[in-house]
Amino acid sequence: MPGKFSVAIVGAGLSGLMLAIALRKFAPDVDFEIYESATQLSEVGAGLSLQERPWSIMQALGLESVLKAIAGGGEKQSISLSYRKSDQAEGISIDDIKLMETSFTFHRAALQKILIEQVQSTHTIHLRKRLASYAQSKDGPIELRFQDGTTATCDLLLAADGVRSAVRASMYSQLADAASTSGKADEAAELRTYVEPVFSGTIIYRTIIRLDDLPEEAKAQPVFHKQGMTLYCGKNKHLVTYPIYQGQSKVLNVAAPVTIAGQEGTIHPGPHTASVSKEELAQYYAGWEPDVQELMKHVDGALKWVVNVVKPLPTFVHGNVALLGDAAHAMTPHQGAGAGQCFEDAFLLAKFLARPEVTKDTLSVTLKVYDEIRRPFSQKVAALSRMSGKTAHFDTPEFADLTEEQSASGTTLSLEQLRENVAKLKELGDWRLNSQVGEDLSDALRKLDAALGAS
Ligand SMILES: Cc1cc2nc3c(=O)[nH]c(=O)nc-3n(C[C@H](O)[C@H](O)[C@H](O)COP(=O)(O)OP(=O)(O)OC[C@H]3O[C@@H](n4cnc5c(N)ncnc54)[C@H](O)[C@@H]3O)c2cc1C
Repeated sequence: MPGKFSVAIVGAGLSGLMLAIALRKFAPDVDFEIYESATQLSEVGAGLSLQERPWSIMQALGLESVLKAIAGGGEKQSISLSYRKSDQAEGISIDDIKLMETSFTFHRAALQKILIEQVQSTHTIHLRKRLASYAQSKDGPIELRFQDGTTATCDLLLAADGVRSAVRASMYSQLADAASTSGKADEAAELRTYVEPVFSGTIIYRTIIRLDDLPEEAKAQPVFHKQGMTLYCGKNKHLVTYPIYQGQSKVLNVAAPVTIAGQEGTIHPGPHTASVSKEELAQYYAGWEPDVQELMKHVDGALKWVVNVVKPLPTFVHGNVALLGDAAHAMTPHQGAGAGQCFEDAFLLAKFLARPEVTKDTLSVTLKVYDEIRRPFSQKVAALSRMSGKTAHFDTPEFADLTEEQSASGTTLSLEQLRENVAKLKELGDWRLNSQVGEDLSDALRKLDAALGAS
C-alpha cells in the first residue's frame, strides 16, 4: 500500500539519518527515499557531546542502549567544567563549575556509524545523487534535479544537505527571482545573501591525544587526566579538552578555536578543511601556560576547520520544501549544540508528519508551523553559541580595548572580572537546563492542531 505521501530526504549526515530513523519510528505510513551525494558513507569527525534535550530524543527513538554502549560519561550526573585564563606564562584557575546535567560524549564517527546501520537495516540510501536544484508547481509533485542529469519526484522535500545546502541555494534563488519579478529589487538582493554560508570569523583546529600512546614520562601528567571539560581561555582564542572513548581506548578530545579579527560575515575563500602540522597549531598557543604547552607537545597534527555559518534565515520553508539541520542553521560549535538542534528538527518533523490529520493537502500548513517553532529556537541557540565564543575569547564590548599583549601580561584583568566573564558564559548555556523537548513538543502539537483546524 502506498504511504499517505512521499518524502525525499536529501543528505545522509546526522540530520538526514536521524530524520529517517524518526520517520520510520513515528510515521510508518509515510514513504521516504534518501539521496546522498557521497560515493560511500564514511564516518568523520572527532568529539561530539549530547546533553539532556537531544538525549531525550534518543530515548524516544529507542536508541538509548545502543548509544550508551559507545558513549563516555552519561546519565544525570555532576558535569565538571573547569575554566582557566591560559594565555599567559602562569595560568589562573578562574572557576570550577559543577552542573547536574545529562551529557554523553561520543566519537562522532562512532555515533554516525550506528545511525547509518539503523537506517540501512530497512532502507537503501541512494548514493552518488547530488541534488542540483528542485522545481515545484502548485498542484504537481516536486521535481528533484540531480547533477548526473537524472530526476525524481516527491510530495515533500526535506533538505538535510548541510551548511552548503543546494536546496537552500535553490530555494533562496527562487524566492529572490520571485521578488525581483515583483519589482522588489532590494528584497531580492537580500534574499540572495542567504544562498552561501558566511565565515563565522573562527577557525577551529581539532585533534585528539591518544592517552595510551603517550611517552611514559607524560602519562602521569594531570593535564591528561582531568575529568569533564577544561576551557583554557585567552584573548581571541581558547582551547577545550574533554575525554572521549574510541573503542575501548580513552582519548583526549582537543578543540582549538582561533578568531580572526574583522572576518566575521565575510565569504571565506577556502579551503574549508585542511590537515595542519603540530607546529602550525602550536604557534597560536606560544607563550600560553605550561599545561597548554604539554598538550601541544603531544598532539599529532590537527584538522583545520573553517567554521561557516548560515545567517539567520527569514524562512526555513518554501511550499512543500523545508530545510533542517545545518542547511537551515549551521552555527558555531561553542555550545556543542549544532547536532542537538539537527536532531530536534528531525524529531519535530517526524512527529508532525505522523499526525493522521497531516495529509498531502495540509503539508504546507504543517511546514509553516515547523518554521514558526524551529526557526526562532534554533536561531536563538545559534546566537547564544556565537556569544559564548566571543565571551570565551574576551571579544565582547567590555574587553574591546584589551590587546593580546595586555592579556598575555596576566596583570590587566582582575580575578573578579574573569569570574564575571565565566558567570556570563554559564548563563549563555542555561537554556539547556531550563527547557525540555517533551514540553516543547506538546506546545508544538497544540499549535499544529490549531493551524490544521483553521486551514
Ligand atoms: C568543529 C565542530 C564541532 C562540533 N561539535 C559539536 C558537538 O559537540 N555537539 C553538537 O551537538 N554539535 C556539534 N557540531 C555540529 C554538528 O557536527 C553539525 O551541526 C551536524 O553534523 C550537521 O549535520 P547535518 O546532517 O545537518 O549536515 P552534514 O553533516 O553536513 O550532512 C550533510 C549531508 O548531505 C550531503 N550532501 C551535501 N550536499 C548534497 C547535495 N547537493 N545532494 C545530496 N547530498 C548532499 C553531504 O554529503 C552530507 O552527507 C560541531 C560542528 C563543528 C564544525
